[in-house]
Amino acid sequence: MKILDGKSFALKRRAALTQWVATHRESAGRPPGLTVLLAGDDPASATYVRSKEKAAAKAGIKGEIQRLPSSISENELLARIEALNADPAVDGILVQLPLPGGLDENAVLDAIDPTKDVDGFHPSNSGALWQQRGSVAPCTPLGIMHLLDAHELELSGAHAVVIGRSNIVGRPMAELLLQRHATVTIAHSRTRDLQGLLATADVVVAAVGRPEFVKPEWLKPGVVCVDVGINRTDQGLVGDFQWDGLDQVAQAATPVPGGVGPMTIATLLHNTVCAWSRHTGLPSQPE
Ligand code: NAD
Repeated sequence: MKILDGKSFALKRRAALTQWVATHRESAGRPPGLTVLLAGDDPASATYVRSKEKAAAKAGIKGEIQRLPSSISENELLARIEALNADPAVDGILVQLPLPGGLDENAVLDAIDPTKDVDGFHPSNSGALWQQRGSVAPCTPLGIMHLLDAHELELSGAHAVVIGRSNIVGRPMAELLLQRHATVTIAHSRTRDLQGLLATADVVVAAVGRPEFVKPEWLKPGVVCVDVGINRTDQGLVGDFQWDGLDQVAQAATPVPGGVGPMTIATLLHNTVCAWSRHTGLPSQPE
């Protein structure tokens, strides 16, 4: 079984982006800018935000984290976003989810200028994605596509089953696979015969959030397994696939940790640098 090593590939992509930024920094007239709004004190969110900040700095992106109390009102948060929309030095605005209770996630995401929406969660970006209008795609599914492409895995005509239908992973993942001519099935908590579907899948993307949920014996020999799940257990971090025995059936699989997670961060930097290229009128964007 080929291990789809997201950790080392993400480092390569980040090095290429760093080079891109260094090359174009002078003609752009300023560095790329990324601001992360972190409301509340969720420990997992704090960890994600710190790694995004470090990765941005290494790529030559001017990063800022605005740490906000969980008591922040929606109006205050919206005013922060408005200020960042108007700030010409900011290319990317990322609101770390989940938001503290009482804040309307849709209202907050809708307030972000779509050209600065590096997460690709704004409805005009997700709508454009579904219409194949070259929109900003959400970082996790786009990072997965970059990783699959790096390994030249065949998607055209393949049956891809995406387990999970969230706005941030499952749905955009399905669309990106569809754009690559896969035949896509989205499975979810009410799917009647998941095992029957998986038995015919050439590619399985699991974004469920349940430790070792997908068993190797449910899968078709030669399957490509993409594990989005991040589950903290007594045994440490595990994914949504049962790793034990997976090598008996799969052609390739992403490990947890070290698979999809690092690709998500590299793709956030990619989306930020693309936004910077557009905002500063650079003639091209990184691949
Ligand atoms: P979510 O909770 O919004 O979605 C989970 C999905 O799983 C739902 O659509 C639900 O219908 C489906 N589901 C639940 N039980 C099921 C069952 N028995 N059979 C089939 N489907 C079932 O979660 P999400 O935000 O999409 O995240 C999913 C997982 O991916 C989580 O573990 C999350 O931490 C992880 N994640 C990882 C990254 C990364 O960069 N690696 C990024 C985002 C999310």
